[in-house]
Amino acid sequence: MKIAIDGPAGAGKSTIAKALAKKIGFIYVDTGAMYRAIGLFVMDNGLDMKNEEALRAALNQVTLDIGYADGVQQVYLNGENVTSRIRTEEAGSMASKVSAILVVREKLVELQQELGRRSDVVMDGRDIGTVVLPDAELKVYFTASSRVRAERRYRELLEKGVVDTTIDEVEADIIARDYRDMNREHSPLRQAEDAILLDSSEMGIDEVLQAMMNLVAEKNPEVLKIK
Ligand code: C5P
Repeated sequence: MKIAIDGPAGAGKSTIAKALAKKIGFIYVDTGAMYRAIGLFVMDNGLDMKNEEALRAALNQVTLDIGYADGVQQVYLNGENVTSRIRTEEAGSMASKVSAILVVREKLVELQQELGRRSDVVMDGRDIGTVVLPDAELKVYFTASSRVRAERRYRELLEKGVVDTTIDEVEADIIARDYRDMNREHSPLRQAEDAILLDSSEMGIDEVLQAMMNLVAEKNPEVLKIK
């Protein structure tokens, strides 16, 4: 079974996808992490994002591997584990820029589809239901107001010890990222026609997780019986 979760930054996709995958014994694939790793690669090597040919040549030299340690996805960029380095706001913003480039998307979509063929997956991102796994049995589009999403991100940053920003700044960054993701030419963020809309502005994590479990049970009760 394939489960596709899409939505804007900070809507709670990864928190829920991770918890859901653990509960039903599926692999969790965080596709945003892959775009972040490529963003890091472009940043580290000072590549010119406007030069598609040079970028394509550079990308051909990149090896991007996904592994799991205690069920947690690890991202390896040219052999280096970059799982923690990609979690900064800067890497997120860079990811949003490189993800608008067609050659980057082609490379990553292929890798994501291969992961989807190999096992039962819960995959989250921006184009999973529309492009990567159009035949997913369950598609959910997560959203929440930009203020609520900014508050969640801000709290995460504080927990990580990052205090050099404000909620307003985080919200402005989220709005800019949404705009780029929804208005780009290739695979813009949008709800697939057959996706279920889930607005978590007024919902807690347990409530959203329960709603997802109910949807899985509706689509494929066998999944819950075996676990
Ligand atoms: O989800 P996360 O914030 O880690 O994603 C970082 C960026 O990567 C997003 O803002 C988006 O531009 C891009 N992305 C994408 N397609 C995906 C996943 C992420 O374009 N499937």
